[in-house]
Amino acid sequence: MSEQKKQVLVIGNGMAGFRFCEKLLEYDAHHQYRITVLGEEPIPAYDRVSLSTLFSGKSDTDLILAEDRWYSYYKVTLKLGTRAQSINRAEKTVTATDGTVYAYDYLVIATGARPHIPAIEGTELDGVRVYRTPADVKGILQASRTATGAVIIGGGLLGLEAAEACRELGLETTVIEREAFLLACQLDEMAGEILDKKIEELGIHLRLNTQVKSIEGRVKVDRVRLEDGTAIPADLVIIATGILPNDELGRDARLELGSRGGIAVQNTVQTSDPAIFAIGECASFNNVLFGLIAPGYAMAEVAAAQLGEINKTFETSVPASKLKLLDLQVASIGETHYSLDEVDFVYEMDRSIGVYKKLLISKDWKKLIGAVLVGEISEFELIRKTLENGGDLPPTPHDLLAPVGEPFNAEIDMADDDVVCFCNYVTKGDICKAIDRDHLKTPEEVMSATYAASSCGSCRETVIAVTNQYVEHGI
Ligand SMILES: Cc1cc2nc3c(=O)[nH]c(=O)nc-3n(C[C@H](O)[C@H](O)[C@H](O)COP(=O)(O)OP(=O)(O)OC[C@H]3O[C@@H](n4cnc5c(N)ncnc54)[C@H](O)[C@@H]3O)c2cc1C
Repeated sequence: MSEQKKQVLVIGNGMAGFRFCEKLLEYDAHHQYRITVLGEEPIPAYDRVSLSTLFSGKSDTDLILAEDRWYSYYKVTLKLGTRAQSINRAEKTVTATDGTVYAYDYLVIATGARPHIPAIEGTELDGVRVYRTPADVKGILQASRTATGAVIIGGGLLGLEAAEACRELGLETTVIEREAFLLACQLDEMAGEILDKKIEELGIHLRLNTQVKSIEGRVKVDRVRLEDGTAIPADLVIIATGILPNDELGRDARLELGSRGGIAVQNTVQTSDPAIFAIGECASFNNVLFGLIAPGYAMAEVAAAQLGEINKTFETSVPASKLKLLDLQVASIGETHYSLDEVDFVYEMDRSIGVYKKLLISKDWKKLIGAVLVGEISEFELIRKTLENGGDLPPTPHDLLAPVGEPFNAEIDMADDDVVCFCNYVTKGDICKAIDRDHLKTPEEVMSATYAASSCGSCRETVIAVTNQYVEHGI
C-alpha cells in the first residue's frame, strides 16, 4: 500500500541524484520506498560529463539520462525548476523556494557543486561566463556569434575543454594559467611541457605562470589584464578555476561539514544525521571533496544499498582522469606529485613524438603509487585497476608500461565487481547481467543498455572486450 511507504526525498536531479534513484529502485526489494526528487534546473538529469557535445550540434535532450516516461513508469515524482531552500531536521521536512513543504523519512542531498569565481574585478561584466550547464553552453554559443577573442581563465581539465570549444567556434583563444604548465593538478613538469606544446600546436595561445588582475570593459568585457599589466583583447571570458560544493543546505541545517567544505559523510554516506545522506560533489568523505563522477556514482550506490539493507560502504576511490580533447592522449592516475626523495620512477618516453609515461613507485619497490601518461595511454585501465586493488606491483613494473610505439595488449582479468566504465560506474558484473537479462549480443547494445562508454568513451575497448568474451565464452 502506497500510504505505508517511506518517503525518500532527493534534493538535486543531477548525475549522482539520478543514479541514486536508479539504484534504489533496483535495491528496494520490498517496495518500501516512494521517491520524490527536487531539481532546480529546468530539464531532467543529464550527462554533464558530455556537456561539450552541445558545442558540436547535440541538444539538451540528447544528454538526458531518462525521459519523463521513465519517472512516471517507476512512480518517481520529479519536481523540476524547484529549489530546496531549507531543511527542518526536527520535523523531517524540506521547504522549497516557492514555499511548498516536502516531508521525508530519508533525505538524500545531491546538490553538486558550482563554479568557483575568483575575487577579481570585472567578473560581473557581460560576456563573462562559466561552463557547468546546458544554459552556460547556450550563453557561450550566443556570445561566440559576435565575439572574435576568447580568454579562458584556468588551464585545468574544464578550462582546456572550454578552450577547445572556443577554438572550434573560430575564436582567437588564450588560456591563462597561474601554474607553470597546464593540468598542474594532474601532471608533472615534463608531461605539462609536452601538453603545453600540443595545445599551442592546435592554435590555442597560452599565458602560463601568471594571474589575471582584472577583467575590463564598460558593460561588456573588452580585455583581460594580467598582473604584469599586459592586456589580452577578449569579448568572451570563461572562468574555469575550480568548483565549490553546494553545501549550504547542510550548513544551515547544522550538519557536520568537512574541513574544506562539503557535507561530511561516513562510509555509509550518512551525514551527522542518520536520516540524511549526502552524495556526489556536495559531499566530503575524510575531508576529501570529489570533482569526478565515479566517486559520485559510488556514493549514490552506497546510499541506495544502505536503504535497501544491502551491505555496501564507500571507499576513497583512486583519482583518475583523462583529457577529453580529440587527438590528445593525456591521463593521470593516483598520486602524481611526489619527488625523487619520496618515491622512485619508471619511465618510457620519446619527447620528439610527444610520448611520456611515468610510474611512481614506493621506495621499497612493492607498491604502485600513481602514473602520468601523455601521448600513449592504453595502459590506463590496467594501471587504474592495479591501484584500485591496492597497488601491488607485478614482478617487473615494466609489465605496466609498453615501450613507446608498441601496442599494449595486457589481458585485464576482471572480476564481477571491477569497474569497466568509471564515468558511469558500470562494473563487469553489470555488463554480464545486462547481457543475460536483455539477451544482448553486441557491444553497441551493451553500451546503450548500461551507458558504459557513453560519456568520455575511454573505456570503449574494454567494454567491447568484456562483451565479446562474455557473449562468446560466458566468462
Ligand atoms: C563540462 C564538464 C565536463 C566534465 N567532465 C568530466 C569527466 O570527463 N569525467 C568526470 O569524472 N567528471 C567530469 N565532470 C564532473 C561531473 O560532471 C560531476 O562530477 C558530476 O556531474 C557531479 O554529479 P552531482 O550529481 O554531484 O552534481 P550535479 O551533476 O551538478 O547535480 C547537482 C544538481 O543539483 C541541483 N541543485 C543544487 N542545489 C539545489 C537545490 N537547493 N535544490 C534543488 N536542486 C539543486 C543542481 O542544479 C544540479 O542539477 C565534468 C563536469 C563538467 C561541468
